[in-house]
Amino acid sequence: MAASKVQAGDENPNRQKLVGKTKKPGTDHLQYVWHLRCDVCGMEYGANGSDFHHRKCPACQGGKPGLEF
Ligand SMILES: [Zn+2]
Repeated sequence: MAASKVQAGDENPNRQKLVGKTKKPGTDHLQYVWHLRCDVCGMEYGANGSDFHHRKCPACQGGKPGLEF
């Protein structure tokens, strides 16, 4: 699934859900910050769109710290 096809409400295999895409530049090449929410603990955080498919929650799954969103 290409990143451009991911829509709000989609969830990755780690139960991280896309709340929405922002216009804020991410920390990866040509990426924007996406607003994600962990369905396990409810943590909300920002992540590069390119990381969505394998992103883990920074609070309960040992993922990288979230970005501002
Ligand atoms: Zn979590």
